[in-house]
Order: sequence, then structure tokens, then C-alpha cells
Amino acid sequence: MIPSNDLLRQYTMYKHEYDSKAIEVLQSGYYILGKEVTAFEAEFAAYVGAPHCAGVASGLDALTIALKCLNVEFGDEVILPSNTYIATVLAVSACGATPIFAEPDEYYNIDTKLIGKLITPRTKVILSVNLYGQSCDMKSLRAVCDENDLFLVEDCAQSHGSLFEEKPTPYFSDISCYSFYPSKNLGAFSDAGALVSGDEELIKKAKVIRNYGSEKRYHNEMIGMNSRLSEMQAGLLRVKLSHIDELTAQRASLAGRYLKEINNPLITLPSVRENATDVHHLFVVRTERRDDFVGYMQERDIHILIHYPIPPHLSGAYAHLGYSTGAFPIAEHYANTVATLPLFNGMTENEQTVVINAANDWR
Ligand SMILES: *Cc1c(COP(=O)(O)O)cnc(C)c1O
Repeated sequence: MIPSNDLLRQYTMYKHEYDSKAIEVLQSGYYILGKEVTAFEAEFAAYVGAPHCAGVASGLDALTIALKCLNVEFGDEVILPSNTYIATVLAVSACGATPIFAEPDEYYNIDTKLIGKLITPRTKVILSVNLYGQSCDMKSLRAVCDENDLFLVEDCAQSHGSLFEEKPTPYFSDISCYSFYPSKNLGAFSDAGALVSGDEELIKKAKVIRNYGSEKRYHNEMIGMNSRLSEMQAGLLRVKLSHIDELTAQRASLAGRYLKEINNPLITLPSVRENATDVHHLFVVRTERRDDFVGYMQERDIHILIHYPIPPHLSGAYAHLGYSTGAFPIAEHYANTVATLPLFNGMTENEQTVVINAANDWR
């Protein structure tokens, strides 16, 4: 069986370091917002090239807190891609604001050319997503935001370390949000997340919101939440972060081999925008006979996932927005044709050969 992912392998890779860090944290007697969190925030900020970082409890919380830091509220509109994981949209809803969908381009990211006509006096934020690991056209997004006095928030849950024009994507944004869900490129061993920014005041505010709205204990200055990053997860993330370049390089070499060796004309391989980099969170191909392809691979014990089968505007959660099939045809077409090939840290050369041969044999 070839799994779509195997989290045990990435643990095994640095098992001794994780084990000794876990014991160190257990024996420290300090479990929430301590020195591991502070150290991780500094190290992660340095890695993604943003001066300030706040660790939080999940990627969804990072997005929600980012929007709250920018005072996004009921009556505001947030422009975001029509093909994304639903958490991006949930963050907008958590602030009471309205999601405004923009169709994706051929790289699966928000098509910046379509944004202009969606901007209204209520628009406050563009919330871009670097889907599957590839940077959006960050320069154009920044320009649209500057011209229209909007904030740029990035959902980087799939793009730890991605660059645009050789700069880390947070260079272009007001706030960038990360998830450390176990299967992400930088995955913890439970839920975890972070937001980074060049604006120290925004990150100070994020740290207040994550801790019940209080800076000083029992002095609650705003309506906050409990979204703290645990010492255990921060400690374990520090171990993984120290190996992130090796982990990303391994993903790149797996992706490179798929790109070179899959040559079935029925399968469309992913491509990368000029000046953008891809950290290969997910290797997503497209085919018109997707369900047949998935079934064929399944018969050969190769596990294929779909990211994502239902675009948010057609999900039950957003039925109240009143969209029906055909509202966002590009996102819907992607939802009906995408398939994710297995690509994960610790995947063996033999396993990949099996996937490549099966994909090439499919007719
Ligand atoms: C994983 C993910 C999230 C949510 O992160 P969690 O840590 O699971 O809350 C948000 N957006 C995208 C694009 C994701 O892939």
C-alpha cells in the first residue's frame, strides 16, 4: 500500500531529537506560553523573513486573529480565492464579515486580474492563499492593495518558506498566517499555528487576543479568545524547524521526479509561475476522468486524495450565500478534475516508482 501521507516516517526521521525535547518540556514544569514558545516565535520569524511572530493554537485561529487585528467585522468584505480549503473562508465568517470569491488562475491561486472589479467601499482585506505550496503573484497583490487602501493577509498554511521574486512571501503582506497541523510542511504533533508581520503593533495585538484579550493578567482590554501555542508543540516545532531545509529539499526532489517522469497525455502536471517558488505541500495533477483515475490507482493500492472536492461556495456551510453550480466555473472545474499524488517526507524511491508507473499506464 502506498499511503497519501505517513506521519510516522517524519517522526522517525528525527525521533531521538523529538523524544528528548518532549521529555525536556515535560520536566520543565512549564506548559503554556513559556520559553519554548518565545524561542520558536523568534526562530520561525527569522525563517519566514518577518520580524514579528505570535504562536497560536491553529491555522484557522491564526487567520481569524489576523483579521481581528485589522478590525475586520460585520459589514466588511474580504476578497479571497474561490478554490481554497474552507478554513480560509471560516476565518472571514468568524469575524462576521462577508467572503467575496475571486476565481483562480492556471496556478490554482487567486487571479489578480479579477480582483479589481470585486472591490467595493466595504472591502477591507484581500486574503490570498498560496495553495499547494506555490506563492501567489505577491507583487501584483501588494500593488492592488496599495492602490485601493486594502490590507493584504496571506494564508500560508501550505507554503512554509515559499518565495516570490526571491523574497519570502510575508515581505509583501500585512500579516501572514501559518498552520502547523501535523500534515503541513512544518507540522507539529497536534494542532498549532502562527501569524507573522512586519508591524510590531499588530503582533502585540495578536498576543493579547490569543490570551483572553489581556496583556496583564485579569485586566481584559478586549474580547479575546484562548488560542495559545503549547510549550510542547513549540519545542517539537523547533526541532523540526531546524531540519526544514532538508525536509523541503526532499519534497522538491520528489516533485521534480514526478514532473520529469510522468508523461501520460491524459494527466496535466502542475506548473510554477515565473518568479514564484513552490514548496510542494501537495502534488496536484488534473484529469478530465478524475474518478476513473482515482479508482485505477486505488486498485493498485495507491491512495489518492482530492484537494478539494467541493469548493466553499457550494458547501452546505455557505448555502446561505445562495450560490449554485456554475457560479465559479473555474473553481468547480478544478474541484471535479484535481487529484493529489502521494508526496511526503520519508517516501521511498521504490514507492514513487510504483506511483509513476501506474500513472503512466493508466488509459
Ligand atoms: C490547513 C489549512 C488551514 C487551517 O489550518 P488548521 O491548523 O488546520 O486550522 C487553513 N488554510 C489552508 C489553505 C489550509 O491548508
